[in-house]
Amino acid sequence: MSEHAMSAAQSARAERIAARTRGDNWRKPPRRIEASECITCDSCLRGCPEEFGAIFDRGLDVIIVPELCSGCPACVLECPVDCIYVDEDWTPTDASVWSHVELTADPS
Ligand code: SF4
Ligand code: SF4
Repeated sequence: MSEHAMSAAQSARAERIAARTRGDNWRKPPRRIEASECITCDSCLRGCPEEFGAIFDRGLDVIIVPELCSGCPACVLECPVDCIYVDEDWTPTDASVWSHVELTADPS
């Protein structure tokens, strides 16, 4: 990806974080990680494209923020235990998680 395209992708992600909404042209539902099956290996986190950056390791668990997840679904291919599911019934992410997202956001 060119530098310009990368910065455009990063700024689109920053806008989604600021607005706390999914991309309006995303047609696929987001994904979710089933915590009872996840072995917190972070493979999915490394596999989520930078332009989405939807996966966060919070120490005790690894989560997908649905507002940042396009449903692409690159992470599914990386998961060794196959515990990433389609989340048709996703609910808005709560404020404490958004605080974590904002703290780990790229400051550029
Ligand atoms: S489906 Fe795609 S955007 Fe969503 S968490 Fe997985 S890799 Fe990231
Ligand atoms: S790749 Fe699978 S097992 Fe590993 S952290 Fe992600 S969801 Fe959990």
